[in-house]
Amino acid sequence: MHVKTWKDTLYSGKCPKCRKGNIFKTSIFDLSGFWKMNSHCSNCEVSFEPEPGFYFGAMFVSYAISVALFATIGTALYVLGNPADWVYLTAIVVGAILFTPFSFRYSRILFLYFFGGIRYDPTA
Ligand SMILES: [Zn+2]
Repeated sequence: MHVKTWKDTLYSGKCPKCRKGNIFKTSIFDLSGFWKMNSHCSNCEVSFEPEPGFYFGAMFVSYAISVALFATIGTALYVLGNPADWVYLTAIVVGAILFTPFSFRYSRILFLYFFGGIRYDPTA
């Protein structure tokens, strides 16, 4: 059912405990389900939702990623010739939309790694 490609390996998010099982169900490029998470690791059975509502805090990580993205786009446009205001606005909106799957996944992955209380276990 799940075909493994280099893209999956790069973006699927590995389990913080065993670093083998995938956190997310599909490829990041699957627009019909990039947000779907596995509830448990398929390899070591650790829960990817340590407590109810755990990923509420991932919103703040997502916010930080978005601010970094906007600052990067804004700085790049300024360096490339400081275009009209509508160009900045359009580039930032388009960038934010294109970046949504990435920021959604990485905010959750980082939050789970830093605040999930799950330690790496090489024997798992
Ligand atoms: Zn695992």
